[in-house]
Amino acid sequence: MVRFFKVLVLALVALVVFLMVRTVIVLPAGEAKSLKTVEQDPARVRTMAEHLAAAIRFPTISHGLEVAPDDKAFTDFHAFLKETYPAFHEAAELEIVGGYSLMYRWPGTGAGGKKPIAFLAHQDVVPVPEEGLSLWQHGPFDGVIDDKGIIWGRGAMDDKGILISLMEAADRLAAAGFVPDRDIYFLFGHDEELGGDKGAAQMAAALKARGIGLAWALDEGSAIAEGIVPGVKSPVALISLAEKGSVTLKFSATDEGGHSSAPKDFTAASLAARAGYLVTDNPYPLVLDEHLESFLKAVAPEMDFTKRIAIANLWLTRPLLAKQLAKSPTVGAFMHTTTAFTMMKAGTKENLLPQYGEAVVNYRIHPRDTVAGVVARAAEIVSDDKVNIMALGGREATSLSNPDGEGYRLIEATIGDVFGDIPVAPTLTVQGTDARHYDTVAEDTYRFMPMVFHAEDLKRIHGNNEQLPATALARQVDFFEALMKKAASAN
Ligand SMILES: [Zn+2]
Repeated sequence: MVRFFKVLVLALVALVVFLMVRTVIVLPAGEAKSLKTVEQDPARVRTMAEHLAAAIRFPTISHGLEVAPDDKAFTDFHAFLKETYPAFHEAAELEIVGGYSLMYRWPGTGAGGKKPIAFLAHQDVVPVPEEGLSLWQHGPFDGVIDDKGIIWGRGAMDDKGILISLMEAADRLAAAGFVPDRDIYFLFGHDEELGGDKGAAQMAAALKARGIGLAWALDEGSAIAEGIVPGVKSPVALISLAEKGSVTLKFSATDEGGHSSAPKDFTAASLAARAGYLVTDNPYPLVLDEHLESFLKAVAPEMDFTKRIAIANLWLTRPLLAKQLAKSPTVGAFMHTTTAFTMMKAGTKENLLPQYGEAVVNYRIHPRDTVAGVVARAAEIVSDDKVNIMALGGREATSLSNPDGEGYRLIEATIGDVFGDIPVAPTLTVQGTDARHYDTVAEDTYRFMPMVFHAEDLKRIHGNNEQLPATALARQVDFFEALMKKAASAN
């Protein structure tokens, strides 16, 4: 017996030593990285800030699917773009699609023999609810630049800031005589906040109908996160490779009803509630996949030794680490299809057996799962023929873009040039963007905004006091200019 314990202890010590040595070799400690500082020309920064402030003043609001777009706001905005970016408008062809979406083609020489690429952005913004208005320090559509050089207003980040940056970059290049060696499309939807069916979907269909395939497209959706990932001080550039899908399942049951003094062993309410409970209690398994793994490895060097041991030895720690990471629901969302029991409806009176009950569960589908798969899995878990399952509004996840593709490599290299030597890692977008409409038009679709996000910035998107420092805007422009040059210069 004693001998057995000796062997066991020795084996454990050997394992610990092995794990530690492996950690030091595979994931050596490193310093936290920081963003590169750059000199910017104040006059140029000011001009760009004024352009974004002016763009914010056009109330291109998406109020709802039933409300027609504000014709004047959109057409005035289009005229503003034409007037502000003359060199680009001279070089590019413009087509209006779906009423207000802008489809620009900047023709290339074709010298590179490369497929076209596309930059996506949306013109529309979400409304500002009446009750939130008093919380804004400057009017959401006033386009104020304060004395610290911060541009305030709805759309400053999502997504007019990006649209304006793209136009600034392209106009500057065009004015300097740059001619791309491949076609570059600029696809600016007008209803992204409503799902993009009238804008992005139509532009994608138009490209498809003409047999135009894109090598890659770049849209909003992810950014450089600073102070958001727990335990990581370095800013981390996250390039999103795919977008989750979604479906809502309605579990309903009917019953003849009656008086509550003589019930059966179930009611329409209990059947529906049980279905909702069962699917919630049987979540999709957490998977720490290769993309999350490359993310963890990118940020690991500055983590403490115990965390690095876990990350360097995923062959042993993977399931445990997945569980640990999922303690943050935000991180958990990247690892599986999520299940959220959001609504219930049943009964009219406390002493009447309900004739109808329903439970509503919203799923956000990971690219490895499908709408049909979600429905089938739920039916199996609930396994009750008294419960009817109806799928509402199913949308598949997009395909997963290539983290080794041309687009990814160029975006990564440009991040290095403009923001410095910071970790870059692939990720997943958990909200919807216009990019998903181009899934079958572009070989790869990436989502990355060249801006630095802190936790408080995340709250401002679709929230109050949306803002962007003018210096950050200038960096966005630098990024797009560098990326356009890299992607479309003959070499
Ligand atoms: Zn957006």
